[in-house]
Amino acid sequence: MTPDHTLPENLISRRARRAGDQAVGFLMQQAVENRDCLSLAAGLVDEDSLPVEETRSALSALLSDEERARQVLQYGTTAGADGLRNSLIGHLARLEGCSRDELGIETDQIIMTTGSQQLIACVADVLLDPGDICLVAAPTYFVFLSVLDGVGARSVAVKTDNHGMCPDALHAELHRLDDAGESGRVKLIYVVSYYENPSGVSLAADRRARIVEIARHWSRSHRIHILEDVAYRELRYDGPDLPSVWSFDTSRESVILAQTFSKSFSPGVRVGFGVVPRALIAPICNRKSNEDFGSANLNQHLIDTVLNKGLYEPHVASVRASYRSKRDAMLDAADRYFSDADGVGWIRPDGGLYVWMHVPESISTGFDSELFHRATRVEKVMYVPGELCYPGPIDKRPRNFMRLSFGVQSPDGIDAGMQRLAAAVRSVL
Ligand code: PMP
Repeated sequence: MTPDHTLPENLISRRARRAGDQAVGFLMQQAVENRDCLSLAAGLVDEDSLPVEETRSALSALLSDEERARQVLQYGTTAGADGLRNSLIGHLARLEGCSRDELGIETDQIIMTTGSQQLIACVADVLLDPGDICLVAAPTYFVFLSVLDGVGARSVAVKTDNHGMCPDALHAELHRLDDAGESGRVKLIYVVSYYENPSGVSLAADRRARIVEIARHWSRSHRIHILEDVAYRELRYDGPDLPSVWSFDTSRESVILAQTFSKSFSPGVRVGFGVVPRALIAPICNRKSNEDFGSANLNQHLIDTVLNKGLYEPHVASVRASYRSKRDAMLDAADRYFSDADGVGWIRPDGGLYVWMHVPESISTGFDSELFHRATRVEKVMYVPGELCYPGPIDKRPRNFMRLSFGVQSPDGIDAGMQRLAAAVRSVL
């Protein structure tokens, strides 16, 4: 008899039970069970363009000096390495197209984290009590939806179109919550402002300022913060170079900016950071202290060295070129294999890693659907079912979307995957 390792429910905290049902875990399991599939699902980055040479050179510079080596192999601080945090002010100023002074922040407002995932999870933990509300685009980054579930918060969907979250809908939703006597529970608005995971859409320029304005307008008894997740900001292939939502918050009190080196450099180094309003520095650092009292010191110094040796920008340029051709390969293949499929359409992203595709509403793309079965078992191709990316009860979510990633496969692999997917879609149309 195999031993039963399931713990009785009353041994596990409520908090842990809330975090139990993770879409990402299920997705990983599907990936493992369908290893023979060509994956258009995996959110991993392109293997060939990972910065092996840059990392080797930066590490050797760091470790060749005995004293420096000992320093970076020691514990760091909770908020992170001062030198890197200072470099990041320059990095951010370049991205915003302004001077360091115009940025209007100081080094202590930058908190280094283990990927940006840790930052966004800490923010959720610090700002949201069970029952509190976070407004989100629909669809949005499904791992953050799990984070919100994990802290017992309620995710409320705001209508979203091809230009991101609709400000009028956000305003109307806040009105509705106010009328329902729930405005006291609204604490956070989450936006992935550049090339959203999963939809690939960016928040339109004029909506950025408006969303800051709306958050300010409804910050009555307490402040409603905006968490702006810019994970894909540096993966722009064409389209406008947009200022962040954060840049419109001239008070620097409302918007928390979450950024990462995972997509532009390497997810393996797990370096992300937040630019946080002054009032949140201590709560976030205290929360983080309970977990790790500081992210990997060596990795932070690695990133700082890469930035200061001028290794970063040329690398990002080459990463962009590689993804641009993969994005084009996916869009070309979509045209080639799907253009005559009735009711099938997709969004052309200006950056990021994903193409968002829809099939007719009568067709479900979910894990238990005929289409998912045909795709994974017969045609041997995997995608992420769109329903994972919406908040709320599963039976109320749109079920006819798919997230297709062009990150991992080569252009030929993308073409083959799209051809297989088209065969699967046709078989259920
Ligand atoms: N935000 C978004 C929108 C993402 O897609 C991801 C990674 N998939 C993250 C945050 C977190 O990434 P990391 O922890 O590697 O910075």
